[in-house]
Amino acid sequence: MQPDRRKLATEAIAPFTRQPLGHFVDGASVAGEGVAFPVHDPSTGAVLGEACDASEAELNAAVAAAKRAFPAWAALAGDRRKAVLHRIADLIEARAEEIAAVECLDAGQAWRFMSKAALRGAENFRFFADRAPAARDGQALPSGEHLNYTSRYPIGPVAVITPWNTPFMLSTWKIAPALAAGCTVVHKPAEWSPYSARLLVEIAHEAGLPAGVFNSVNGLGETTGRRLTEHRDIKAIAFVGESRTGSAIMRQGSETLKRVHFELGGKNPVIVFDDADLDRALDAVVFMIYSLNGQRCTSSSRLLVQRSIHDAFVAKLAERVRQLKVGDPFDPATEVGPLIHERHLAKVTSYADVAAADGATIAVGGQRLDRPGYFYGPTLYAGADVGMRIAQEEIFGPVLTVIPFDDEADAIATANAVDYGLAGYLWTNDVGRALRVSDALEAGMIWVNSENVRHLPTPFGGVKASGIGRDGGDWSFDFYMETKNVALAKGHHKIQRLGVAG
Ligand code: NAD
Repeated sequence: MQPDRRKLATEAIAPFTRQPLGHFVDGASVAGEGVAFPVHDPSTGAVLGEACDASEAELNAAVAAAKRAFPAWAALAGDRRKAVLHRIADLIEARAEEIAAVECLDAGQAWRFMSKAALRGAENFRFFADRAPAARDGQALPSGEHLNYTSRYPIGPVAVITPWNTPFMLSTWKIAPALAAGCTVVHKPAEWSPYSARLLVEIAHEAGLPAGVFNSVNGLGETTGRRLTEHRDIKAIAFVGESRTGSAIMRQGSETLKRVHFELGGKNPVIVFDDADLDRALDAVVFMIYSLNGQRCTSSSRLLVQRSIHDAFVAKLAERVRQLKVGDPFDPATEVGPLIHERHLAKVTSYADVAAADGATIAVGGQRLDRPGYFYGPTLYAGADVGMRIAQEEIFGPVLTVIPFDDEADAIATANAVDYGLAGYLWTNDVGRALRVSDALEAGMIWVNSENVRHLPTPFGGVKASGIGRDGGDWSFDFYMETKNVALAKGHHKIQRLGVAG
């Protein structure tokens, strides 16, 4: 018999649903005095609880706590930070089932993917923990006259603002390197799925993280998020979310000259050439748009398929899309769960009319499902061309747009003809073509003959409207740290003598 994971999740969030969820500031839970907003179960539409929009005073208290805690945390030896972060990873692993279940309940993500995502959260902490001791290491750059050496210092208290799609994993991905670098953090999770972030901050303190090093405030983007990004004591903003929110945050942070790191939207192409291993390509195409309910920044939401194989490939694809198992996120057989929220469902649903009006074919789906909750049928739009809105805009649901192409040049031009540039996927058995197309694609990350497989030392991030900066490996530390150069004179160079009489 399956364990009752819905019960497990309900019990895990019970302490946060008895009263509106407040904040976690300076090592302690704070009740929350701001306006409360509802948090829904996407698979039923029922209200799970409420969370509070942080008041200005609460937000200021969180930033003040991060500022107070910064000197001691920044000065702590790297191996001590490493030890605390490994203990956080241990506790995440110990509670991985519970965390994954909360993601299913709160974010509507299917269990089959969430069981791994919680463990990936622990892996993020371990990866950056191991790098904490060497984070400050610099380079020696001797010149003829000086010994130059560089070193790095944590930038200060930072804001981390995350979206709702895989909330726990994404939070760990940003917070672990910040803490490893020696920064203190004020985290604002997404208002539609706040519960796993609360588990994370509590776990971190149970693991021995000092008070004030990691604070978590709930609230809406336009109020709490805005105040956090405008606050003068916040030195940098790590943001994951929509491109237009990134623009707003850049404006909000400009007055206080914030450093920003943006992981934004995508409209990622998967290009299938006729010489590819088409069975593997088909598996990857289906996986990369319909897993995680299509609510995934690196999803391949545009299929560019060579005209010579187009009809046969799309026929097989349509058959697979019809077979997808949509259902309760807790059912291990479920492949596609509900969308996050009524408002997001309305947005995703609206594209069926747009597709029809623009002249595309709705090959599969195109409708919300007739059941409680925010379920949308896996959808395939065919016969699209590059100018259509379904080929240009990030829909962020289980929706794939197919566009045929003739040759390599056509594929590259079509792939690049969007505002976004996060990821690209390429299927061909011609090595030269793989190299040429990879060079030409305007994207931060390319996978050749593969779905998205993340290797933590590699750089993650996008170009164009998909982001600014890179995460992963040492790139994360570059963002959370300042580099200083010291030039030590050898003493034999001639210094110009000014103001000497005669
Ligand atoms: P969103 O931009 O609406 O919200 C993200 C976060 O920003 C939330 O916490 C929200 O409250 C906050 N926010 C909103 N307005 C704000 C403001 N003015 N000031 C400060 N904070 C504000 O995004 P979403 O709908 O939650 O998430 C989906 C988006 O995230 C998609 O576009 C997706 O592609 C993107 N995403 C990108 C990556 C990546 O790595 N590139 C990863 C996951 C998701």
